[in-house]
Amino acid sequence: MSARILDGKAVALTVTQEVAAKVASRVAGGRAPPGLAVVQVGENPASQVYVRNKRRTTEAVGMRSFAHDFPASLAEAELLATIDRLNANPDVHGILVQLPLPKHVDPQKVVERIDPAKDVDGFHPYNVGRLVLKSPTLRPCTPYGCMRLLAETGEPLAGKHAVVIGQSNIVGRPMAMELLMARCTVTICHSATRDLPGIVRQGDVVVAGVGRANFVQGDWIRDGAIVIDVGINRTDEGKLVGDVDFAAAKERASWITPVPGGVGPMTIAMLLANTLRAAELADG
Ligand code: NAP
Repeated sequence: MSARILDGKAVALTVTQEVAAKVASRVAGGRAPPGLAVVQVGENPASQVYVRNKRRTTEAVGMRSFAHDFPASLAEAELLATIDRLNANPDVHGILVQLPLPKHVDPQKVVERIDPAKDVDGFHPYNVGRLVLKSPTLRPCTPYGCMRLLAETGEPLAGKHAVVIGQSNIVGRPMAMELLMARCTVTICHSATRDLPGIVRQGDVVVAGVGRANFVQGDWIRDGAIVIDVGINRTDEGKLVGDVDFAAAKERASWITPVPGGVGPMTIAMLLANTLRAAELADG
């Protein structure tokens, strides 16, 4: 079997167009455009690319973009004071602080300072808790995007065995909660998991969020499995690859996401969907 490709670029475009249409009808109805503040501290080159893309796409869908760029030396107290001001600003519906932050800033403190109603990354304990309790409000963008891609397959998820590799707060854990909410039977694997290949072979759905190039081998993939590759890794030759050995896995899977062009573009699309949702929530 050769897998069908889950084209994240195309699905992200559809989501973005849906958001743009809803923003336009909001504005035509006399309501304020959703506003997204993206806060960047320091000059991490990868973060600068992400932030630039987020701001550009925000404006492209008719939302207002608020840019707050600070040097790496910014004191934690000043960053928290900026978040307080954004929390109080009614034109700002979503706040995103780009991670990673410089070492002297506690990211948990920063995430918890954001008003949960404006936490469009979905990282605040309130939003994570809502997801755990099966009534999500603002959902972590990357797992949310993965769920949108899974919906594209048209395959019912209920009863499927989903194997998630990775248990980070931004990928693995919320992904497992999303899949559980979709009534999958979920196994979460991490670096202490025994017989990882044996467990992955049981997966009807496999989600890899490890951060190691081509780590998941083709012969770990069960025939007909759906494979979602969250990993973004650069090889020594400078090529962008996922966590899954794509060429080999494609021969066994029924559906698979490519890297690049799979999960990556979905993350920004779901960020915009969350910002629209935050604006709608603020409407009351
Ligand atoms: P992370 O915080 O480093 O977490 C990696 C996870 O993989 C950890 O839970 C770790 O287990 C597990 N792991 C490491 N080695 C393993 C092994 N040998 N066997 C089994 N599990 C192992 O990384 P992350 O932030 O979740 O990101 C994961 C990947 O996704 C990265 O490539 C990142 O660039 C990518 N990513 C992509 C997007 C996107 O938009 N597409 C968004 C976010 C992240 P322990 O917990 O035991 O250490």
